[in-house]
Amino acid sequence: MDDHRDDKYEETELEKKDSVKEEKKSDDSGGDYEDVCFICRRPESKAGKMFRLPNHICVCDDCMHKTMDTVSQFDYQGLLNNPNMGDMNGKGFPNISFVNLADLQGDGGIPNKQKPKKKKKEKAAEIDIRNIMPPHKIKQKLDEYVVGQEHAKKVMSVAVYNHYKRVATGTMDEIEIEKSNMLMIGPTGCGKTYLVKTLAKLLDVPLAIADATSLTEAGYIGDDIESVVSKLLAAADNDVERAERGIIFIDEIDKIAKKKNTNSRDVSGESVQQGMLKLLEGAEVEVPVGANSKNAMVPLATVNTRNILFICGGAFPDLDEIIKQRLNKKTSIGYSAELKDKYDKEKNILSRVTVEDIRKFGMIPEFIGRLPVIFTLEGLSRDMMVQILKEPRNAILKQYQKLLELDEVELLFNEGALEAIADKAMEKETGARALRAIIEEFMLDIMYEVPKDDNIGRVTITREYIEGNGGPVIDIRSRSAEHPDRLNVIQNPSDG
Ligand code: ADP
Repeated sequence: MDDHRDDKYEETELEKKDSVKEEKKSDDSGGDYEDVCFICRRPESKAGKMFRLPNHICVCDDCMHKTMDTVSQFDYQGLLNNPNMGDMNGKGFPNISFVNLADLQGDGGIPNKQKPKKKKKEKAAEIDIRNIMPPHKIKQKLDEYVVGQEHAKKVMSVAVYNHYKRVATGTMDEIEIEKSNMLMIGPTGCGKTYLVKTLAKLLDVPLAIADATSLTEAGYIGDDIESVVSKLLAAADNDVERAERGIIFIDEIDKIAKKKNTNSRDVSGESVQQGMLKLLEGAEVEVPVGANSKNAMVPLATVNTRNILFICGGAFPDLDEIIKQRLNKKTSIGYSAELKDKYDKEKNILSRVTVEDIRKFGMIPEFIGRLPVIFTLEGLSRDMMVQILKEPRNAILKQYQKLLELDEVELLFNEGALEAIADKAMEKETGARALRAIIEEFMLDIMYEVPKDDNIGRVTITREYIEGNGGPVIDIRSRSAEHPDRLNVIQNPSDG
């Protein structure tokens, strides 16, 4: 019995050596892509050593054995002697088609761009701590694009800096730095997604944006949780190593709060939070390459989420009520009930949020625990809206000005006009998202009319035009000798 076990042990040791040899061989071949099993589609790093057949077809050990077993059990003789089998006579089996291996081009018929790139051995060494942008520089860059949200920008800059320091040091020493996954809480349209997008762009890391509302527990209708990693891999051009250092932003995270008073299984709420725990902390996940879902035809890649930065964002409606309730409870001890509405008028009540409030909202403690950096964003004020219109590097007004500049027309907005736009946007209660829609609406006439008339030299948008009580001021280019420098208001294109 013991001998037998020893044999087995030796065999596995031999197998291991073999696979090491195989690995070396495939490394020596110098290709950038991993081989993928033709039958089960797992890459070599997952499925182990491959049998290499003609025409660059690879089959993993498991599949090869299964195939052999099936073939050996097959009753060829019985099949051939069966009188019901029709036109056999050596012409082939009915209803069974054999794949002609020579027809399959390339490696197992899978184009290179669908194959996961080979993992290189030393990953962490590539990020040099000295090259990581320090927090004040990150914030400076964010300032160029994002108006206000000073606190959020500061917290994010520090968290991101720490995160990439952690990635750079890897497991260099025994003190392991905790992951800086973030939870951002703020009303819709206040710049959550925009902050994350800007951050990813300036750090030059891949970014995947997912919506928590579409996620469900694996096996139910909807995207399973691991699909977010698949999106990141796609954003990183299927480069596993690059994806492993990327950012995943999960929006509308408040929508996966625990459902209250439900009798059915909560497949899109608490279960999704449970399912996300291992991703947030760091796990190896097998994701399909170049497709959204796992199926037999899609190769799989293994992505480790240990160094992926997760940022979750949500508006958390009614969280302010929970905070107020807590604060009121605290103050009512020993005081009279007249303090009840004390916090009703407080503008930035969200900034007083605690982990306990979020738990009460419906997020499970294990989930919140894996998002150690929690911060809030403020709702946009009218002044911030005006700033958003004109100040960021790619402000909407600058974009329109640039467009008209190409027609050699100057576009101006007076302050009253900007305030009127901001007021209209505030009414819609969708944050800065409303600004573009409003501007597009009234710029349509101008963008249509201006190119018609070569004489137009300047267009000034006024409050009256925005409020529908008048038109923009149009100045023409002065060309005549009689009025060398004069610019005249001649017509209102929106009336014409
Ligand atoms: P949400 O907070 O709902 O994720 P977004 O970040 O998608 O909102 O904001 C929508 C758009 O509004 C952005 O694309 C951006 O152009 C603009 N925006 C929102 N907030 C700001 C801000 N603080 N500074 C500059 N632009 C902003």
